[in-house]
Amino acid sequence: MMAPRQLTLDEWESRYTELVAGGLREPAYGGPLRRHLEDGDLRLPRLCYDNSAAALRLWNFLLTEEDRLHAARAAGKKIVGTMKDLGTVPVIAYAFPNLVAFYPDGAWWIPCVMELSTGLLGIADALGIDESFCPVRAMLGAFLTGEHFPIPDLLTCSVGATCDDFSAIAQRLNGLGYPILWWEMPARRHPDSNESSVSLPGGFVAPCDQVELVASELERIKEALERLADMRLTDDDLARGIAVANHARRQLAELRRLVFTAEICPMPALEMLIAEMLAIHFCSDREETIQVFDDLLEEVRERVRANVGYFAGDAVRVFWVNPVADLRAMNLLEECGGRLCGTEYLFCHALDEIPEDLPPIEALARMALADPMVGPSSDRALRICRDIEQFEAEAVVIARIPGASHCAYEGHIIHDVIQERFGIPVTEIEVPPISDALRPTLRTRLEAVMEAARALRRR
Ligand code: SF4
Repeated sequence: MMAPRQLTLDEWESRYTELVAGGLREPAYGGPLRRHLEDGDLRLPRLCYDNSAAALRLWNFLLTEEDRLHAARAAGKKIVGTMKDLGTVPVIAYAFPNLVAFYPDGAWWIPCVMELSTGLLGIADALGIDESFCPVRAMLGAFLTGEHFPIPDLLTCSVGATCDDFSAIAQRLNGLGYPILWWEMPARRHPDSNESSVSLPGGFVAPCDQVELVASELERIKEALERLADMRLTDDDLARGIAVANHARRQLAELRRLVFTAEICPMPALEMLIAEMLAIHFCSDREETIQVFDDLLEEVRERVRANVGYFAGDAVRVFWVNPVADLRAMNLLEECGGRLCGTEYLFCHALDEIPEDLPPIEALARMALADPMVGPSSDRALRICRDIEQFEAEAVVIARIPGASHCAYEGHIIHDVIQERFGIPVTEIEVPPISDALRPTLRTRLEAVMEAARALRRR
């Protein structure tokens, strides 16, 4: 096993040659990372990467999604653009053999990965969706240029308990001639004392009425998918789809457990963020996601067994809240003396196992209602606290998302709940899609929170 070391994109050139000479076997989307620069992924030279073949496969898988979607269409499959629910509708779509689902919301990261070279945010500006909205507005430009993903055969979007940003942007998209099949997601509320309720994956509780409503909405989505696929989906088919999704979720749960609890960090924060993102729609290939997780798990298990990894043994154990618009911030965390020990990237419900002992649509409805963004911020804070405890985090970084409507208030709530419960340092930083100009400020904020966490150790 090669000793873990973070590499620049240039350093990956010789590492790749070495791996190939050593007999590396790659899937069809494999190859040197540098080639993605030709696709305009200009941010890549600014990032640091894990040096394992498993990480290489992860990055290549992520960066070839657009090709995969085009190949699926060329092979006669129908493409479903699922929006906002982050982890629910794709489970239904992938239960059909001839459907592929992806999140157009993923355009969120295009301004970062392509270093603002595509003009997507300018297109959104011209449509009246300016920087007072979160980076998901890049999705509008991606639809209008048609350059970043194939235009889906069907678009679905959850609405109701949705952030104002997404709601406004999706409505604008609909008005521009991209019809959307909306489905209702109620705001999850605590059941009244005399109301029948059920437990949701992840530990929240919801009134049965709300579960029934979401189940009926998902039934409607399933019927639309059946029409698109021109075939019926039985409960057994859907149950099998749920079982495969759960397999991937268990793999990811094990990967997170190993990485966040190991004495020495076996896998850097950036690769772990990418791995978590695969959970929401399998990066447009469910079976391959499972293979990518297999490789990552094998690498991490080996590193944990050998007690090798990254960063000084005293790296501060950091819990990270919200995804970052600029991926480079995950490298910065480690440069400032931290390591990732717990995350909540807005889609923890996509990580929880879906119940397999219920009618499948009801099981999915329960999972969808466990979305941390459809309930009170105080619920989300309590779930974060539970994970902080599990992974023994010593500090918390809340990454504010520029323009995001929920970030105006939730940070304070999460901060106060964590402070009251654990008394550990919590900081809020705001990370724009390209954060280079803010790097000194971000560094200072992160170094300060590490220092505060170390000071607590000495008490
Ligand atoms: S505002 Fe937040 S929840 Fe809404 S789309 Fe943006 S990042 Fe997602």
